[in-house]
Amino acid sequence: MKKLVFATHNPYKLKEIRALLHGLFDVLSLKELNFPEDIPETGKTLAENASQKSRYVYDRFGLDCFADDTGLEVDALDGAPGVYSARFAGENATYDENVTKLLEALDKEKNRKARFKTVVSLWLDGKEYLFDGKVEGRILLQRTGGGGFGYDPVFQPDGFSKSFGEMSSELKNRISHRGIAMNKLIGFLKSNGFTNED
Ligand code: IMP
Repeated sequence: MKKLVFATHNPYKLKEIRALLHGLFDVLSLKELNFPEDIPETGKTLAENASQKSRYVYDRFGLDCFADDTGLEVDALDGAPGVYSARFAGENATYDENVTKLLEALDKEKNRKARFKTVVSLWLDGKEYLFDGKVEGRILLQRTGGGGFGYDPVFQPDGFSKSFGEMSSELKNRISHRGIAMNKLIGFLKSNGFTNED
């Protein structure tokens, strides 16, 4: 099976992506490349960060590669934390600290509207392709569910009565920001004859 590198150290993202690409590609993470370092993310947009990560791996290893960058935009916080979602409660903040800071920032706030946005950058045969995905929803008053990661326990997508943290990974993958962006990538690879299927 053809191999694609996913430029991440995040085991939760890797699990989601492997489920999506199952049967189409063998997905290698940075761990399998014996690359323990964090790739710098110094961009001001999701697209810049996603590009930075995939380009880094493509240049260094010469392997076809993709990377994602995701942000949570909260209307009542003027779009924050956005591209800084991983560092909302400070450099090296844990998921739990970031969620606590978010719930505090929205204390007594009625407008809970928010969205996840993802940009995926794919470097393939020396060219870059970008794919995006978005899911609208709201920030709950408290954490629910033990699944997923990051802000999943406090994010409820529109049209559902469960948070991402309460959903199976199959359902989250079907409707999520990352699932939508990755399905665009899969469609692109299939229609250009890059998968094993056709
Ligand atoms: P990253 O820079 O793409 O790794 O994502 C930034 C931050 O967004 C992460 O540290 C997580 O807290 C959060 N995040 C990314 N993807 C998701 C998701 O699918 N669900 C919940 N939180 C996420």
